[in-house]
Amino acid sequence: MQQFASDNYSGVCPEVMEYLNKANQSHEPSYGEDKWTAEACELFRETFETNCDVFFVFNGTAANSLSLATYCQPYHSMICSRLAHIETDECGAPEFFSHGSKILLSESDNGKLHYEGIKELVNKRDDVHYPKPKIVSVTQTTEVGTVYNLQELAEIQRATSEFKLKLHMDGARFANAISSLQDKNPSIAAKDLTHKAGVDVLSLGGSKNGLMLGDAVVFFNPEEADEFAYRCKQAGQLASKMRYISAQWLGILKNDTWLKYARHANHCANYLEQELKKIPEILLLFPREANSVFVELPQTVIAAMHQKGWKFYTFIGEGGARLMCSWDTQKETIDIFVKDLKACLIENK
Ligand SMILES: *Cc1c(COP(=O)(O)O)cnc(C)c1O
Repeated sequence: MQQFASDNYSGVCPEVMEYLNKANQSHEPSYGEDKWTAEACELFRETFETNCDVFFVFNGTAANSLSLATYCQPYHSMICSRLAHIETDECGAPEFFSHGSKILLSESDNGKLHYEGIKELVNKRDDVHYPKPKIVSVTQTTEVGTVYNLQELAEIQRATSEFKLKLHMDGARFANAISSLQDKNPSIAAKDLTHKAGVDVLSLGGSKNGLMLGDAVVFFNPEEADEFAYRCKQAGQLASKMRYISAQWLGILKNDTWLKYARHANHCANYLEQELKKIPEILLLFPREANSVFVELPQTVIAAMHQKGWKFYTFIGEGGARLMCSWDTQKETIDIFVKDLKACLIENK
């Protein structure tokens, strides 16, 4: 049964399966020395239209914490939103892998950092008793389903250049962000949201975009990735059969398949939102810009929906039920969900 709990409830898209099969034909060198990995890295450089350095890891927590650790000494600090995944959902991995860099929490606007919030944390103190701010981490798409537009990213870049900070992007749902912005401006490309916007390193999510597993770390200043391979190996993130992670990216990056699926997920969430808006008792919580819809529901209704077998999270962001659409969400699933929800609302009046 399809669910709205998370986009990582979904399976593997056919294009990725095809490449897993292609990569499975014979023997290949291990630890990333294979041809699939080389081809995937080349395709990343084409996709981002720059000479970036790419590493393949098992998940987003590793991508985030290892890339942040690259820039941070233990006495540094990393600035992110109070709602950021690196703060709330990574079990302290960014602090652990950086050997103690402190996360500084900024206020955010619907999950998005802004210049003033960063400035306040940086200017709070400038003495040795305060951990030195070193890097800003933005999540694109944010944890509450909003998307930084180019102006908002330019504001962040203004702060990082003014305060000499590095910029990390948690792109667990990066494709959903591009696709969302492309709905308004079709010429927007991956480069506009990353190195052109001052992003130094991107954690690019795969598992929520149709991969079986695996995330990529993309360094836009290759000299900064100098020793990253050691970091991955030491952290247990160097796959010996690397080709099965890397070849998958050929499946989704070719022909803009990643964007096709992200667009589908976004449009499903739009449809879900439109259907929910027709129910007067329901309060929507954040502007819907990508593939999630957040709604406020009475506890009894949440329990009744769970009773009917629906799974969704109620602990993300600032509460409310998060309904997440994925690359393969079907319109019929949305219709059944909405019908069940209407019934639960009547029964629990
Ligand atoms: C899913 C997600 C991640 C990655 O999580 P893993 O379970 O470690 O792969 C990172 N950031 C955000 C915002 C996410 O939603």
